[in-house]
Amino acid sequence: MENQTVRTRFAPSPTGFMHVGNLRTALYEYLIAKSQGGTFVLRIEDTDQERLVEGATDVIYHTLQQVGLKHDEGPDIGGPYGPYVQSKRKALYLPYAQQLVKEGKAYYCFCSKERLASLHDENGLGGYDRHCRDLPQEEVDRLLQSGTPWVIRQKMPLTGSTTFTDSVFGEITIENSELEDQILIKSDGYPTYNFANVIDDHLMHITHVVRGCEYLTSTPKYNLLYEAFGWQLPTYVHLPLIMGRNADGSTSKLSKRHGSTGFADLLREGYLPEAIINYIALLGWAPQGTEELFTLDELAQQFRIHGISKSPAVFDYDKLTWM
Ligand code: GLU
Ligand code: ZN
Repeated sequence: MENQTVRTRFAPSPTGFMHVGNLRTALYEYLIAKSQGGTFVLRIEDTDQERLVEGATDVIYHTLQQVGLKHDEGPDIGGPYGPYVQSKRKALYLPYAQQLVKEGKAYYCFCSKERLASLHDENGLGGYDRHCRDLPQEEVDRLLQSGTPWVIRQKMPLTGSTTFTDSVFGEITIENSELEDQILIKSDGYPTYNFANVIDDHLMHITHVVRGCEYLTSTPKYNLLYEAFGWQLPTYVHLPLIMGRNADGSTSKLSKRHGSTGFADLLREGYLPEAIINYIALLGWAPQGTEELFTLDELAQQFRIHGISKSPAVFDYDKLTWM
């Protein structure tokens, strides 16, 4: 990926408020781009209509604005500097899925909700049994013409394994037999979150995908899509977990009892956006020197991917004191 302009994106799903975890992802994406003279893109991933929360997109825009994470491009709304919004790009995804069908790498699945639910009950794992993977073409044509609802699934390899190297966590391998034939286009015509994510990262020439480590094990699913299209993989940067410090000094999964973790709550309590950003920058990244107070511009100068740690970061509410 050398000699390529660095392009990162913050790709939130508007499903709730902004907490320190979301904000850290946005910040690191921004810093990776800005530390290398690159471009920071904002993309709203709102194709999962069932999970949308009203007003969440506005909270995202507003928060990024308050902390100074200005995105660089995106024509969908708000003029030339508006972000990309996937629901407004809906028509763009289907032809990519159809291309894979034509090439024998994906297929129409006509299974009913009831049938899929019964699979869950029988084997406990809930894996799709690839019932429609090899339907005769005449049968596919007949079902399509009859208006039977369908989804498009990708044919995952039945054997072997998929390996990739993450910039923070190193080599990750998943057995392909663990991956079910993933849905690309849903019955409502919207792309699945995974599919839209890969198509857009490719179309937007994203060089670095930065996200929480909860995505590490599903990354091979994305990679098999890149492979199916013959596209170059981005550099992956998965971020460590954020834990909370308990009163007795131990740590556990970050939650409300560790103090406010929502950006809006912290602001309400009087913390300045600059202080919050400074604190969040250090949740998983260590600067080279001993300096601990940084403005956003200073962070952008100093940030390096190799300074990101894979050990869980600890959110210690008592240490967030710079007002
Ligand atoms: N839309 C995903 C989320 O909100 C982002 C995943 C990614 O960055 O690839 O968690
Ligand atoms: Zn099926």
